Amino acid sequence: MEKGLVIKNTGSWYVVKTEDGRQIECKIKGNFRLKGIRSTNPIAVGDRVQIALNPEGTAFITEIEDRKNYIIRRASNLSKQSHIIAANLDLCMLVVTVNYPETSTIFIDRFLASAEAYRVPVALVFNKTDLYSEDELRYLEGLIHLYTHIGYPCFRISALNNEGINEIKEELKGKITLFSGHSGVGKSTLINAILPEAHLKTGEISTAHNKGMHTTTFSEMFPVEGEGYIIDTPGIKGFGTFDMKDEEVSHYFKEIFEFSAHCKYGNCTHRHEPGCAVREAVENHYISESRYASYLNILEDREEGKYRSAY
Ligand code: GDP
Ligand code: ZN
Repeated sequence: MEKGLVIKNTGSWYVVKTEDGRQIECKIKGNFRLKGIRSTNPIAVGDRVQIALNPEGTAFITEIEDRKNYIIRRASNLSKQSHIIAANLDLCMLVVTVNYPETSTIFIDRFLASAEAYRVPVALVFNKTDLYSEDELRYLEGLIHLYTHIGYPCFRISALNNEGINEIKEELKGKITLFSGHSGVGKSTLINAILPEAHLKTGEISTAHNKGMHTTTFSEMFPVEGEGYIIDTPGIKGFGTFDMKDEEVSHYFKEIFEFSAHCKYGNCTHRHEPGCAVREAVENHYISESRYASYLNILEDREEGKYRSAY
């Protein structure tokens, strides 16, 4: 028996990196049931597992350690089947751009709320700072001030010009990190700037995926400087939906949740109820209007029965 970390999932076999650094191709042995979710795959990159090596050279994963978190993708809108994309994430870097393309605060806040629900820490990476006008830069500073204050680390970078990349590399050390963000914000450019030269670049990896048979299940982690990994997986934009009661949505807006302790009613949804400490905090500018608007936006969608994810 040996312990290791799953660093690649092809859909039919896995690569496990052992504690002494060997990489071993493994199949699964036994029936891994997962509590609470119906999943098409029992094991994902980021899983810490036990493996058994056989004398004839084959290897099997025999046990999975409990996960601290995981992210899933629904097989389809109608299906209850899910696919686990990655487990034990230490960080998600959400790459956003104020412009080219524009990332809305509603998108950012939905993403942050679902990451809170999945217990995945998020850092915000504001890219393409080389392109912004003075007005856009001022707006960017406002956003950085807001999100830093709530407790989300923020980075200002230009992936194209290699500016701010060292700070990102520093943050990745010792962590398993996933990159998310709208298409076109510069995720591939950023990952290429981070990965050591010796590695495949993300563009090439994605092309290889497309030729493979298991495009929906394939995912891989690449080592970065300082014992960390970044996850490359085709087509993932973020977390799945999260089902909860209306009064629970505010739990995932950190600063709204803090104020909600002082609301008159325990099940306050912070819309029309009398004695609402959250609305008072918005009026007094302790909670930003844009965050409160995003919060209301999620509640409104829920009323319409959309229950949609961050996207
Ligand atoms: P992805 O879809 O998020 O992976 O985005 P890409 O990395 O493919 O980048 C989309 C486009 O934005 C490409 O043309 C990049 O060259 C460009 N781009 C990426 N980062 C920057 C940046 O920091 N500044 C500028 N000006 N362009 C960038
Ligand atoms: Zn309230």
